[in-house]
Order: sequence, then structure tokens, then C-alpha cells
Amino acid sequence: MKKLNCAFYNILPDLKTYTRNKMSGFNLTISDKPFELEKLDSKTEILGIFVEAKIDKKVFQKLPNLKMIATFSTGYDHVDLKEAKKRKIPICNVPTYGENTVAQHAMALILAISKKIFASTKRVKEGNFDYHGLCGFDLKDKTVGIVGTGHIGYYMIKMLSGFDVNIIAYDPFPNTKLAKELNFKYVSLNKLLAESDIVSLHVPLLPQTTHMINKRNIKKMKPGVIIINTSRGGLIEPEALVWGLETGHIASAGIDVLEEERYISHPEFLFEQNCQAQDVKDSLMENIIIDHPNTIVTPHNAFNTTEAIKRIIDTSIANVKAFSKGETQNDVTKPRKK
Ligand code: NAD
Repeated sequence: MKKLNCAFYNILPDLKTYTRNKMSGFNLTISDKPFELEKLDSKTEILGIFVEAKIDKKVFQKLPNLKMIATFSTGYDHVDLKEAKKRKIPICNVPTYGENTVAQHAMALILAISKKIFASTKRVKEGNFDYHGLCGFDLKDKTVGIVGTGHIGYYMIKMLSGFDVNIIAYDPFPNTKLAKELNFKYVSLNKLLAESDIVSLHVPLLPQTTHMINKRNIKKMKPGVIIINTSRGGLIEPEALVWGLETGHIASAGIDVLEEERYISHPEFLFEQNCQAQDVKDSLMENIIIDHPNTIVTPHNAFNTTEAIKRIIDTSIANVKAFSKGETQNDVTKPRKK
């Protein structure tokens, strides 16, 4: 039987051999770098990509033999689903691999902010062992608002339960059994934003969640609120976040994802734009967010543990193998089975 031509991008160097060994029944090319549109091989039948790869119409046009895309991620907002459906190309994701891993990152951001860990470490490394000006705050008795109580939100609530906080949550599909089990209350989004000392986002980026945190509702939040976003940058209107930080209405933000993060991680993408790269770079709100003294920004790193990456690769390979046998699984172009 003819071997399918697969091209996998962004595979960590340490996992290349592991991946090759598991994909022996395929013609596989592997790169640890993101793909470049011009260099895509038109013979590619299965494309393996990470979230920073923007799969738009141009990619589909460049790959006339494309049969399936495996995205090494839970989120799939980087893929033009409409175009994929039109071409009947399944987009297979990794529905769960790191709910504990991502929640652990969100917790790390909260803990680092609450105890001023970065400022403290910096001071000591500079030779100053003085704690003045580094006063943090207790999590105990604070109200934490969890937006989205799916896989990651669930773990977040479980982890937070050990800190004696008051947990409230918003989800359009509330899980009352979970609320009882983990002793938290569902409230409306408006109430959550008005009452929370810390707001942590765990929802997918969809048209209806884009800029769900914006200038209008930031004004309704508690002055001094802390915002944590490990989901997708597009959930927060960047101008509004900058406004909140600059006015002090938002005390601090722990951010793993930025709306225009692909231009930050790969400035060469700016050249695809029809304008001067430096102008775009200078005008990116993301750079203001990164440089702000009251933010901690990590480079879309929440998923990134040895254990989680292995789980991602294993499920992605299982997705590819299932497709090659005509048993497509985890196809996000199809309605989800409940
Ligand atoms: P999930 O599908 O299990 O849960 C998402 C929850 O959001 C669901 O309960 C859903 O009902 C809820 N939801 C949908 N629309 C909503 C809305 N308008 N308001 C509030 N809640 C809404 O997903 P998950 O596994 O928990 O992952 C959440 C997101 O985290 C992913 O979509 C992905 O974008 C992001 N993520 C980021 C990283 C990272 O490395 N930073 C890694 C994995 C996932």
C-alpha cells in the first residue's frame, strides 16, 4: 500500500526520533521549525502543525493533495475551519492532554503575582537581601472567578480548593454536579467580574468569546483585580488590558497568550503584511503588555511539560493512524459527540 506523505512541523528536537519510530508506516518529513508557506511541499497529504501555524486559504491552495490536518493542540482557532469543511479535510485535534499541566501554569502565575516572586528573585540576585517593598497578599479568603469550567477550569478549581479561596464560576453550560463536588457557585459573567479579586480565563476562542474581556466590562471589575489568561490572547481586547494596567484598575496580569503572539514569536511574519515591519512592531499593544511592570508574560508555554508533550504527540499520531485506516477521530469539523 502506498505510504501517505506527512509533514510535521514544530516537533521538539528531543521528540524527533520518538515520532519517527512511531510513524514508520508513513513517508514523514519532520521539522522543529514552523512551516514557511513558500516551502510547503505540494505532495503533502497529512500536515502536522502547532498553534502558531496559521492555516488559511493560501495554505489549502498550496497543498492540492492535502487530506487531513493534525493540530498538536486542543485549540483550533488558528485553522480556517470553513475552508477545511468546504474541502472536506478533517482537522483532528488533541482534546485533552494537559488539563493539569495548563492549570498548573495558571496557578504558577497567580502564586508568582501574589508573592512578588520575580521582583524578589531579581532583587536578591542583584545582591540586595531586603524584603521592603515586596509585600504580597494572601490568597486565603479571596474570591477567584473561573471563566469556563471545562477540562482546564475543572483542574484549576481543584487546585485552588487547597488555598481556602472562595470560588465562583461562569460557563454557558454549567456542570452542577461538579459545582457540588468541588463546592463552588455558578454566577453570571457580570457578577463574576464584579466580585472576583482574581479572574482566570479557561474558554476557547470563538466569535462569541473574542474580546470577552474589554474596556466596557473591565470598568465593572473590582479595582485592583488580577487577570490570568492561559487560554487564547484574543479573549482579551489588548487596548483594554493596557488601559486597565495603566490606570491601575487592573493591578496585575499573568498572561501566557497574546492576541498577536505570532508576530512576537516570529517577527518575520510581519513581512507578510503589506506595511513596514517596524511600524507594525512598534504599534503592537502586545509589546506594551510585555514591557509593563505589573505583568508576567510567558511565551504560550502553559502546555509545555515533558509529560504533556509526549501525550500530545501520542494522540496526534493516533489521529493520523486512525485517519489512514478510514476511522477519523477527534475531527473538529464535525459536531462534537456528547
Ligand atoms: P474545554 O472545551 O474542556 O472547556 C472549555 C469550557 O469553556 C467549556 O466548559 C465550555 O462550555 C466553556 N465555554 C464555551 N463558551 C464559553 C463562554 N462564552 N463563556 C464561558 N465559558 C464558555 O477546554 P479546555 O481543555 O479546558 O481548554 C480551554 C482552552 O485553553 C482551550 O480552548 C485552549 O484555547 C486553551 N489552551 C491553552 C494552552 C496553552 O498552552 N496556553 C494549552 C491548552 C489549551
